[in-house]
Amino acid sequence: MRLRLWGVRGSIPTPSSTEELTEKIVHALLGANGIDLSDEEAVRDYVQSLPIHQRGVWGGNTTCFEVTTAAGDLLIVDAGSGLRALGEHLLEGPFGRGQGHAVILFSHTHWDHILGFPFFKPLYIPGNRFDIYARHPDIEGRLRYQHDFRFFPVGMEVMGATKSYHDMPEQITLFDGRLKVTACTLDHPGDAYSFKFEADGHTVIVACDAEYRELAGDYWQRYVEFYRGADVLVFDAQYTLREVLVEKQNWGHSSAMIGIDLATDADVKTLVMVHHEPSYGDDKIRRIFDDALRYLDRMPSVVRPRVVVGYEGLSLEL
Ligand SMILES: [Zn+2]
Ligand SMILES: [Zn+2]
Repeated sequence: MRLRLWGVRGSIPTPSSTEELTEKIVHALLGANGIDLSDEEAVRDYVQSLPIHQRGVWGGNTTCFEVTTAAGDLLIVDAGSGLRALGEHLLEGPFGRGQGHAVILFSHTHWDHILGFPFFKPLYIPGNRFDIYARHPDIEGRLRYQHDFRFFPVGMEVMGATKSYHDMPEQITLFDGRLKVTACTLDHPGDAYSFKFEADGHTVIVACDAEYRELAGDYWQRYVEFYRGADVLVFDAQYTLREVLVEKQNWGHSSAMIGIDLATDADVKTLVMVHHEPSYGDDKIRRIFDDALRYLDRMPSVVRPRVVVGYEGLSLEL
């Protein structure tokens, strides 16, 4: 099984500003002091040696994740603006010839999780087939509403691919039994759903968007049990711990430190932080992550999860 991240930003697409990019260039040049950069190859080697958030970006596109099985089955979680880039990528394969098939699964239908749908080119190519699942009622109506002429110039009837809409049960097996998906309700305005994917002997869980109001007791344990033993947990870490506990209670999101608590209690192997706050620059996201790592280092637990900041293009092979 492989997980690839195409959109990791929360709430609204967030292009980098000129000021932020300028700062990155300045830092990179300052860091090159004493390094021989006399030819292009040396320059490229130096740039490649920089951390992703200094030579590039965590990413400004909103939620979209790609899950593929070893057999090549394709499942897409959420249609945030990251879906547009995934669409361009898929056009290079069977989807470009009208021979593709994918399942699209929606955690919920807040705008940041559906706004890439009208820009997903494989949907406009006859012959492609999409099975679209959601726990929320009337997913077709919700997506069609977004294509209303008042909000988007192209109606859904122009999309030539075959679309089949399904109510997602609590558990389902897809692709002739190769991928099992189990849903868990998340605490989020209007509800969102976490999905556990089991295939090829591995488990990947996507849990976006979610707030955790109680950090103990039955409430907490319900999530610990659902996340238990996952190889990868993709986690909504939009806010700092202070924001979650004080300033943004009931906003429906969580923090990296709570993710570490959950991942540790549930013996998760790799924790991937996503749904980054749009008002935070890449450096601040890195600092929040570093604070969380220090918190993890102080924990007494013997088995610690690997913790990574999710970024566009991150691919995890299991
Ligand atoms: Zn969201
Ligand atoms: Zn949401």
